[in-house]
Amino acid sequence: MSEPTFDDIFDELIDPNEELQSFLMSLDALLPEALLLLVSDAGTLFEGVRPLVLSPSLREQLVRQAKGIDGFVAGKMDNGGGCHAVYLVKLSAVLIISCAAAPAEDWRPDSSITTLLHNTLDLALYRQEREMLVAEHEQSVRQISILQQQHGKLVEDNFRQYRLNQEREKEYARKLESEIAKQTAELREANVRLEEISRLKSDFLANMSHELRTPMNAIIGFSELLTETSLTEEQYDYTRTITQSATSLLTLINDILDLAKIEAGKLELERLPFDLAEVIGNVAAMFKIPAREKGVSVTSRIDSRIPKKIMGDSNRLRQILINLVGNAMKFTERGGIDIQVDYEREAAGRIVSRFSVRDSGIGIPPDRVEAIFEKFTQADGSTTRKYGGTGLGLAICLQLVELMGGHLAVASEVGKGSTFYFVIPLEEASAEAISLKEHKGTGRVKGATGGRILLVEDNAVNQRLAGILITREGYEIEVASDGAESLEHLQSQSFDLVLMDVQMPNMDGMEATRRIRAIEADPLQRQNYVGLRARKEPLVIVGLTAHARKEDELACYEAGMNGFLTKPIIKAKLAMILSEMMPRLSCLEHKDPS
Ligand code: ADP
Repeated sequence: MSEPTFDDIFDELIDPNEELQSFLMSLDALLPEALLLLVSDAGTLFEGVRPLVLSPSLREQLVRQAKGIDGFVAGKMDNGGGCHAVYLVKLSAVLIISCAAAPAEDWRPDSSITTLLHNTLDLALYRQEREMLVAEHEQSVRQISILQQQHGKLVEDNFRQYRLNQEREKEYARKLESEIAKQTAELREANVRLEEISRLKSDFLANMSHELRTPMNAIIGFSELLTETSLTEEQYDYTRTITQSATSLLTLINDILDLAKIEAGKLELERLPFDLAEVIGNVAAMFKIPAREKGVSVTSRIDSRIPKKIMGDSNRLRQILINLVGNAMKFTERGGIDIQVDYEREAAGRIVSRFSVRDSGIGIPPDRVEAIFEKFTQADGSTTRKYGGTGLGLAICLQLVELMGGHLAVASEVGKGSTFYFVIPLEEASAEAISLKEHKGTGRVKGATGGRILLVEDNAVNQRLAGILITREGYEIEVASDGAESLEHLQSQSFDLVLMDVQMPNMDGMEATRRIRAIEADPLQRQNYVGLRARKEPLVIVGLTAHARKEDELACYEAGMNGFLTKPIIKAKLAMILSEMMPRLSCLEHKDPS
């Protein structure tokens, strides 16, 4: 069933016929004797309960006359009776009422009767109006109730729609959440895979470095030894070439490994006190001979406001400077190279300093300035042919400088020279840090030679090479082929220092070191080891490995080693570490009386 509209409701309210009908009913009740007839302006007839029958001509006459005057007119009916007619302006209709007898010809309505009639009519009209008002009120009540119903329905509809939207939103959020969870899981999985790949990559690099460095060790070591034997000039030249080529190959291997380490975010800078002037002096000294050969000067200067002792990674700083000065040397034929460290300002307790390496060499074309900092890129195609190099040096320097909190840049002019510079914050080393470092060195005498060394090494070539280098440094040597064998040696002999290879079959260097430390800590076991029982200090063990990663170094220390030497064994490095690590007292003083 369709709902009623507002128009329907108002149509009902203004029905004129109903209005006339209800007036007649009121009058019927007020005048129970009278016969009534109502003629609307439209000509419609409405009869009372007791209808008044009139001839149409008399009716029309009465209607016409009543409309013409303000008051009652009289008429005579066919049956001899009389009637009165009056125009009701409010209802737009003429009312005709019967009366008992026909009035005389000259009848004029009596004022008291007409007043009575008027009052009756007014009362009927009033009643009729009241009924209409009651009807209107009922309509309004109905209308309000319909509106209320509609409003209720609207609220209900809205609420239903709201619930529906809420459900949809929840469903959407659920879908979204599960989608996000799915994608997060996928990302996590991809991340794990990437980490695994990165780990495999760095393991691969570490292994490669081991595999590459071990033979390099032999090539460089033996060719160095060979140059010291009696050779013809030609043989000497060949041997020097082998040494130089192997050394540059080793540099390349180290560069590639460095870059891989930096890119994997695995390169960590050391924070140890060092003497800045010593580092700069060393670098300048390294290039003195090639500079003299070329007729080029090398000078260096450090601003006096820069502290002498700095906290940081001296090896990496040296590496950057060697690279920059090495390049300057390579590309400069006359004039000079100047290394400078200038004071810029102080910020947050650090001395912001500018390192620059200036040369009077060939310079770099402006359009190549950016490219030279990229990996494997040189200023022009002929560089490799003319000067050698791989284009890795500056890429590594750039990354190292950035790790130190600075930026590497160059100002250059073709034919005039170049200045490579970087600005980094330097931290002054505290007295505490300096004394701690110096304290670590106690018990060792720099430059001391003599003493017994146990070399634990499985590779026969390396045994021979290390053996020759160690004896040349003035030490006595004993060789063990693996960790187990080194323990056997320690049961019957005393040593001042053990050079312990890390990777060995049977028992590796880490395990052997851990066992030695465990024996030292156990008085009962120690009694069975001649090499350990009489010692006042723990036996010095220096790791020997082709792995050059920081984590390998840390692993050596964790196993209980005191030092770390990377292969290939370079003569100078070996001499330095042996003299640094060799205990002050000769082993003879610890020798067991048995
Ligand atoms: P490499 O020297 O092994 O080629 P680098 O990354 O150290 O690699 O240098 C990249 C290139 O930048 C060099 O090949 C050279 O073309 C240019 N370059 C670097 N330093 C200088 C310099 N001091 N003078 C002129 N050119 C230079």
